[in-house]
Amino acid sequence: MNKILKRIIAGTAISALALTAFFMDLRKDVTSIAAESPKAAEAAVTDAPKYVFLFIGDGMSYPQIQAASDYLGAMGQIRSSDILTGNKYLDFMKFPVAGSAITYDSTSFCPDSASTATSLSTGYKTYSGIINMDETQTIAYETISEKLKKQLGYKIGIISTVNLNHATPAAFYAHQPSRNNYYAIGLEMIESDFEYFAGGALKNITGDDKTKPQENLYAVAEKSGYKVINTQNEAELLTAADGKAIIIGETLADSDSLSYANDVKAGEWELKDYVKKGIEVLDNDNGFFMMVEGGKIDWACHANDAGSTIADTIALDDAVGEAISFYNRHPLETLIIVTGDHETGGLTIGYAGTDYDTYLTNLSNQKLSYAKFDTDYVSKYKENNTSFETVLKDIKENFGLLTSNDSQASENPKLVLTSYEYNLLKTAYDKTMGRNSTERSQEEYILYGSYEPLTVTITHLLNNKSGISFSSYAHTGLPVGVFAKGTGATLFEGYYDNTEIYDNLANLLKVK
Ligand SMILES: [Zn+2]
Repeated sequence: MNKILKRIIAGTAISALALTAFFMDLRKDVTSIAAESPKAAEAAVTDAPKYVFLFIGDGMSYPQIQAASDYLGAMGQIRSSDILTGNKYLDFMKFPVAGSAITYDSTSFCPDSASTATSLSTGYKTYSGIINMDETQTIAYETISEKLKKQLGYKIGIISTVNLNHATPAAFYAHQPSRNNYYAIGLEMIESDFEYFAGGALKNITGDDKTKPQENLYAVAEKSGYKVINTQNEAELLTAADGKAIIIGETLADSDSLSYANDVKAGEWELKDYVKKGIEVLDNDNGFFMMVEGGKIDWACHANDAGSTIADTIALDDAVGEAISFYNRHPLETLIIVTGDHETGGLTIGYAGTDYDTYLTNLSNQKLSYAKFDTDYVSKYKENNTSFETVLKDIKENFGLLTSNDSQASENPKLVLTSYEYNLLKTAYDKTMGRNSTERSQEEYILYGSYEPLTVTITHLLNNKSGISFSSYAHTGLPVGVFAKGTGATLFEGYYDNTEIYDNLANLLKVK
């Protein structure tokens, strides 16, 4: 036998032995940990935090966080807390405790927001699409927020950048066999009696079946004693004395076309403002629990729009900043957790076409979200049968991509479309303008998903020229980060199942 082969075989044998020993050790460890349950023991002796913030970046895993952080670094922008160190972290990345949570559900290794939020709020796995019920859809689970309200008298706030009866917020107050039961979810939201809701408009306010209209959900809410607020002006004036309230963000309305963080106008409320107001109205001596969802991180990742993903991740970090300010005033009584529910899009930093290089500053040329480009531009292209030449001008204006004959091409070589890229864009334009065909071949689905071919091709090209790529239009099986700061934070160290986030919270807060 030749020497090299012998060495490989010997090496393999040693590795196998070492691995077996490692796994036996691991099994021993797991058994003893289970027997002693040190986390439960630790939770039992730790004072329960009076103020709990749970931030959920929908679709936010490590790639979304790191891409946002790297983008800020590339742009030379340093987050407020890092001025002294010069690091390029988001504020929550600097929390003293970090862990990872595994996200699979009873359906898939690539779970959805209904089942994963169920795991976070109740500690149970279930099928994708189900809100706080078991796989047989017969047993309803009580949520951490319901328990805190009922057993400890905490005030509860639920905040989201998407519709308030969408899966993630719903998982903190509703119990439904389907996440699409929007009307029933809306009724449960009102029945929850939670003190503060803020976010996007309720979906299906007069019922899920348009042919059988039911009482308007906002009217039901008002009858139940909620102050329903529809303008930023009124929201600014809201105080705790107004009692329980539902704030509907003016531009977070029932559409995904407005107010991605990329589209927010000067003076318009962002996620952090809804959190700040929430703190103001929920603050009380008994305590509060606030769930804050950055829901459009997910929507932007589905659409493979890296620029909007990054902007919404930064907006979530800004909202966490409000919780950090509160923590600084109540450091011994506050717990802040920042996590995701699952990864979306198979985002990564790196692209086959740019090898080891990234050009993240290219993304700063993107002026609006894919959704706003669809509404403000593409819909008009279809109406007016706009020429490709005119469309190219808008693409330059809004995304910075240039054709090789553009006067600015020589100064911005990293933004110049190659002939291969130009052809991809032209093909997508033709597909978008050829309105009759919504049907997609396998090849077209891989190119465009279910999105507007022109728009998704523009974001793909800008992503790729920046050294960023996506591998899916759906959710993936990556674990998510869990960042914790404050009373009980150490419980969230390690690599564990997402249901343990609930278990740790329930043990720490001593609810049953
Ligand atoms: Zn999603």
